[in-house]
Amino acid sequence: MNLDEELGRALPRIARSAAPPDRITYARDLWPRHHLAVSEGRIAEHRPGLVVWPESTEEVAEIVRWCAGSGVPLVPFGAGSGVCGGILPTSDVVVMDLKRMKRWRRLERDAPWLEVEAGALGITLEEALNDQDLTLGHFPSSILCSTVGGWVAARSAGQCSGLYGKIEDMVASLECVVGRGEVVRFERRVHGPDATPLIIGSEGVLGVVTSAKLRLHPAPPARAFGAYSFPSVEAGWSAMREMFQAGLRPAVARLYDPFDSMIARMGAGRRARRAAAAPAPAPTAKPRTRRMGPGAGALALRSALRVPGLVNKVVDLIGTRVSTGATLVLIFEGSLDAGREDMARAHAIALRLGARALGEEPARHWLDHRYSVSYRQAPVFMAGAFSDTMEVAAPWSRLEGLYHAVRAALGRHVFVMAHLSHAYPDGCSIYFTFAGSASSVGAAEATYDAAWRGALDAAIAAGGTLSHHHGVGRSKAPRLGGELGLGVDVVHALRGALDPAGIMNPGNLLPREPAPRRPVAPPPAVPVLDRMSLLVRAAGTATLGDVERALSQGGLTLGLGPDAPPLDTTLDVWIAGGARGAPDPWEDPVDHLVAGFTARLKSGAELEVRPAPRRAVGPDLFALFLGARGAVGEIRSAYLRAHGPSQARRLSSGINRDPSLPDAERGWLDRIADAAAHVR
Ligand SMILES: Cc1cc2nc3c(=O)[nH]c(=O)nc-3n(C[C@H](O)[C@H](O)[C@H](O)COP(=O)(O)OP(=O)(O)OC[C@H]3O[C@@H](n4cnc5c(N)ncnc54)[C@H](O)[C@@H]3O)c2cc1C
Repeated sequence: MNLDEELGRALPRIARSAAPPDRITYARDLWPRHHLAVSEGRIAEHRPGLVVWPESTEEVAEIVRWCAGSGVPLVPFGAGSGVCGGILPTSDVVVMDLKRMKRWRRLERDAPWLEVEAGALGITLEEALNDQDLTLGHFPSSILCSTVGGWVAARSAGQCSGLYGKIEDMVASLECVVGRGEVVRFERRVHGPDATPLIIGSEGVLGVVTSAKLRLHPAPPARAFGAYSFPSVEAGWSAMREMFQAGLRPAVARLYDPFDSMIARMGAGRRARRAAAAPAPAPTAKPRTRRMGPGAGALALRSALRVPGLVNKVVDLIGTRVSTGATLVLIFEGSLDAGREDMARAHAIALRLGARALGEEPARHWLDHRYSVSYRQAPVFMAGAFSDTMEVAAPWSRLEGLYHAVRAALGRHVFVMAHLSHAYPDGCSIYFTFAGSASSVGAAEATYDAAWRGALDAAIAAGGTLSHHHGVGRSKAPRLGGELGLGVDVVHALRGALDPAGIMNPGNLLPREPAPRRPVAPPPAVPVLDRMSLLVRAAGTATLGDVERALSQGGLTLGLGPDAPPLDTTLDVWIAGGARGAPDPWEDPVDHLVAGFTARLKSGAELEVRPAPRRAVGPDLFALFLGARGAVGEIRSAYLRAHGPSQARRLSSGINRDPSLPDAERGWLDRIADAAAHVR
């Protein structure tokens, strides 16, 4: 079919292009595996047939309706900064760029919140909010080149997640166009039913997000800075854990392993020397060009990366002998007094765990260069090598196993370093950066694939999640079943309900092969406490009283409020009724109610979602059970967050926790529930 002609005839008002430059521009996201092909001249091998630029929700709906009716696949496109192959069209595909939809629909200063269209670019949005003394609090390193819709679709995390949470903690409601062109609004309800967690992370396979109502905060009046050197990365993350479990919420908490710390220090030193030695260059009319050929440095880098095992060993050795250990950077945001007070508490924890204080400078320096580190890939590829990043997460008790397993698996193929940049009371994510090289592009692709395969398998075996914030895309889709098991079929079923024509970004997120069936762990006979992660695993048939009694022996509690039901209520009934009385997630977005669960669907099939502090592996399936009154099935066990005596400072929000449920939305929720309940 000639897409340009056909769509043009049906929808002449929609801006579109089938010109080669546009088809090349929209042929991919920033999955680094593509860069390898590009480096040997294979440019844009997957060009879409047509690119469209809708300007309103109505236009999006018209395009979706036309694609569904014509059986034409459709790929939503934000800014193309995804790194997992979420965008990889073929010539029969229409790519829909949302960036013309960037209007602010409504700003509510008192609550505060903003309803903004999905194509709004991150940095423009944040700067405009700052002009009004507001912030979204979402600062992904890609803020310069990513959109609201892309953040929602990929479950993005920003650098200040330690205070404001991830994007899923900021969404108050979503407007979407689903698979036959219907416009649907889903509201977040803290006691359910709530379909927003199903759309968040759906990576374009359930519908097009056209606008989002996002929670805002007053721009922080002050910041407090601190940095610490720890003898080891393990000592550093113990300090992070203690801080978050003590209720501290540093907006930024980043721990660099010894080699990553060394690189950061060298970079800082170089920049400082350059700045001191050189006067600012006079602006020139003609930009200076860089030599493109492989110089001595490039050759050395390429050769070194061909023997990654040796390089990793040497670096480990240097790490223990030369480096000054792991570096923790902390930034608190808020009032001056609160920042000082919280930093003093964090300081005491750090020193008690063997840290040396480095003063404020490293944290201030990090803030000044907060986005620069992410744009250093090009020289690596130009030198004939490759690099990529992998971000996994696990409860604190599994973090060490995850760290060593993934590091070892990657280290067999590539040079690897790591930092930890998103911490929660119950766990943390680890961000691995790796680089490799091979004798040809084909061999480099094989090394790259082997490194990823090994690392994903290692993450699953160590009990981690495959992704904390980059998402799944096509790069991790084949391994999604290893983490979610039957959950993959549940997501397929959601797709059947929301996109019955199967046109939305086919091939993305979901593996083509059926998910492996694996035995689901039976519920525990009595509540079992994971003290290190402050998680308690309890059966759905356990009562709130059983759980509270088990926790009280360790000085812990569920932290239930006055509207909680009687203590003889069982967990499955409590969750099905909306977990009333649980701590308010709008007040402490870094915390959450349930880290993982097992459930029995109405079909009798067993579902298991393993505990992770936050995951970006598709829709959050817990939303199918919270406040759903058993429509999908029953919770058989849950990992609930246990709370100690210290509480986090509360963030205030005027957002309605329990918006009403209109009939139209209820209809969609019923369809979704029905589809999920019958998966077997
Ligand atoms: C240098 C760099 C740094 C990065 N740093 C971070 C970081 O700190 N934190 C982080 O979370 N991520 C980071 N990323 C990854 C990436 O920026 C995020 O995944 C981001 O959320 C993608 O947004 P986008 O608008 O570019 O989406 P795209 O790449 O265009 O799309 C991503 C996926 O979402 C789908 N999609 C896009 N828009 C919509 C929509 N409106 N409705 C439905 N589906 C849609 C697409 O089909 C695709 O599957 C980084 C990437 C780069 C290149």
